[in-house]
Amino acid sequence: MPLAEQKLIQQIRRSVRKDKSVVTGIGDDCAVLRVPPGHELLVTTDFTIENVHFRRDWHSPELVGWRCLTRGLSDIAAMGGQPRAAFLSLALASDVPQKWVDHFLKGLLDLAKEFKLPLAGGDTAQSMSGIQADIVVVGSVPKGTAVLRSGAKAGQQIYVTGELGGSAAVLARLAESKPVGHLRHFRPQARVAVGQWLRQRRIASAMIDLSDGLSTDLEHICQESHVGAELEAKAIPSAQLGRREKELGKKQVALDLALHGGDDYELLFTSASRVPSRIAGVRVTRIGQTTRSMGMRLIAEDGEARPLRARGWEHFRRSS
Ligand code: ADP
Ligand code: MG
Repeated sequence: MPLAEQKLIQQIRRSVRKDKSVVTGIGDDCAVLRVPPGHELLVTTDFTIENVHFRRDWHSPELVGWRCLTRGLSDIAAMGGQPRAAFLSLALASDVPQKWVDHFLKGLLDLAKEFKLPLAGGDTAQSMSGIQADIVVVGSVPKGTAVLRSGAKAGQQIYVTGELGGSAAVLARLAESKPVGHLRHFRPQARVAVGQWLRQRRIASAMIDLSDGLSTDLEHICQESHVGAELEAKAIPSAQLGRREKELGKKQVALDLALHGGDDYELLFTSASRVPSRIAGVRVTRIGQTTRSMGMRLIAEDGEARPLRARGWEHFRRSS
């Protein structure tokens, strides 16, 4: 059984750090936040739902808490913003052990500490079944500088941070009840510093974070910017596999997972400028270009261009 609501809130309140962005935090009807003069607010909200986004038998509670906050931080990163405060709404069924909740909060608050991000409020409720968490992250950017999905022009280069497909590869192995040798992919890093670096120098014309998968998230940039895109298969940075797969002669996750796998939380952006191969310590790779003709194409290793369909994660889509 989880702790009673008031006890749980007290426990959370005790473990939260003070911050200059938070004038009044947990304990009142609303939080009062301070935003730097000349800034605009960024607000993002993301669900983390048991058996949709995680499974209690696959994901440790720390990891679920970590990933819950990463989803919000990553959205702020994709606008080039500075995270200012987080809010957590938590619904728990009566059979969820308090120990699970403690570890979930630890994972979430450890990450918050890393980003010096205060938890400034939330809501706590009983759920009829399972665990549902909703994270709200508030951030800010200097007025008029947020990097949108709609800013790409035809003929610009497309870039991605880090490596792709690692999270999907781990999930695929878990689904086949195979041992998981490369769990580090399960702890994605929100690219907040990279996003800010790109915004400050006005290098990214459009940007999005990769939560649903490269093909699906690239399509969002294309649709919002009214451009097409051409990706080069051989340029896509697939995640390196663990030792176990390397022994079997495989080095990287399959191209399909890198193209369509979700939950990598890397940044995808377009640019007309020179882009360094590392930003804030993170690898950056050119993977293609935007085009005047609509739709997405993939240039295969053999040089042939084929249509690329968005096949990433989508809720409510009928499985085919
Ligand atoms: P209200 O009835 O006004 O919603 P609550 O009793 O739900 O007030 O919340 C009291 C305080 O505790 C508020 O400041 C709220 O933001 C905070 N709070 C409640 N649940 C959480 C949570 N899961 N995480 C962080 N803060 C919380
Ligand atoms: Mg409440």
